[in-house]
Amino acid sequence: MTALLTIESLAVGYGGAPVIASLDLAVEEGTVVALLGANGAGKTTLLRTVSGLITPRGGRILLDGDDLAGVAVEDRARCGLAQVPEGRSVVAELTVEENLQLGALWRHRRRAERRVAVDEMYELFEPLARRRSSAGHQLSGGERQMLALARALVAEPRVLLLDEPSLGLAPRVVAQLLAVIRGTVDRTGLTVLLAEQNVTSALSVADRGVVLGLGEVVADAPAAELAADPALRHAYLGF
Ligand code: ATP
Repeated sequence: MTALLTIESLAVGYGGAPVIASLDLAVEEGTVVALLGANGAGKTTLLRTVSGLITPRGGRILLDGDDLAGVAVEDRARCGLAQVPEGRSVVAELTVEENLQLGALWRHRRRAERRVAVDEMYELFEPLARRRSSAGHQLSGGERQMLALARALVAEPRVLLLDEPSLGLAPRVVAQLLAVIRGTVDRTGLTVLLAEQNVTSALSVADRGVVLGLGEVVADAPAAELAADPALRHAYLGF
């Protein structure tokens, strides 16, 4: 397998001290990498830097070998990078259908192709099919997170950057969402970088777990190994 996303000697900060000092990470195509670590470890900062919302102070981010430096956020989306930020970002005033149509516009110019792509999302996320005429603000937390995820997936990204999708959701809904992500990865070869505080859920769906501590990679191991090793869990994950 080859690395689709490569991060080399990345340095990021917001003014004073660096948040990420010198981070290296390679994410192989068709895998889920769980990005773990305590509050403030730099997970969100890393995702926002990869998606282009934050400009790094140093280092490189390569997508399929191409340096993303100087590639604007919207152009990164066209290259196949999609971010679902924390907080279930959907357009609250638009219906489920309209949100998905907007997402599909990134990928498909033809109306008929958009229809097929949106209908595929209704198959993946059945609750959304029942709510297709409801506005974003009328949805439950779980439905909003499904819509945020579906809106990203409908554009058929190569790399999905997911920030805390489980936040505030019932375990059953989290399991449903993660199952859809895993299924999509296995079916399509999607690559996922999943930042999560919910370590057990994240490792249950990931191929690899990477633990950040103060902007550095402090552990990097197969997910099953990380989940099963009490010393690793205790040292880095706090349980
Ligand atoms: P959490 O799970 O709490 O979101 P995280 O691992 O995602 O944590 P970040 O949100 O990336 O961590 O934050 C890393 C550090 O950067 C923290 O010390 C945080 O206070 C700081 N930080 C984050 N965003 C900003 C900002 N916009 N301006 C200044 N400092 C920030």
